[in-house]
Amino acid sequence: MQQEKATVEEFKKLPSVGDTTAKILQDEGYLTFEDLVRANPMTIHQECNIVISSATHIISAAVEHIDGQCPMCESHSIKNSWEEYSDAIPKDSDAEVVCSGCGWYGIIEELEK
Ligand SMILES: [Zn+2]
Repeated sequence: MQQEKATVEEFKKLPSVGDTTAKILQDEGYLTFEDLVRANPMTIHQECNIVISSATHIISAAVEHIDGQCPMCESHSIKNSWEEYSDAIPKDSDAEVVCSGCGWYGIIEELEK
């Protein structure tokens, strides 16, 4: 299911994102919060000239804006799976998510809409 394109105003809810950064992200093809969740901080850093720590924060925060809940406990406490492992390097197209409510682990497509 394709999420609707987020607006610049919506992207500005993310940490360290203002008008300029929101527009750059959209120009680079990150049109939805889900696009950001699937992204890699290094790729965003290179494509959008955003420092890696900010790119990481943006991706971490984007998962809170995606439309979906845990299929097991219906919690909305969904995080990127790589956030659970501080030494893990997030991969491209890594849409693995974990529920901090019940520990369910899966992919973004499995979230209940
Ligand atoms: Zn859960």
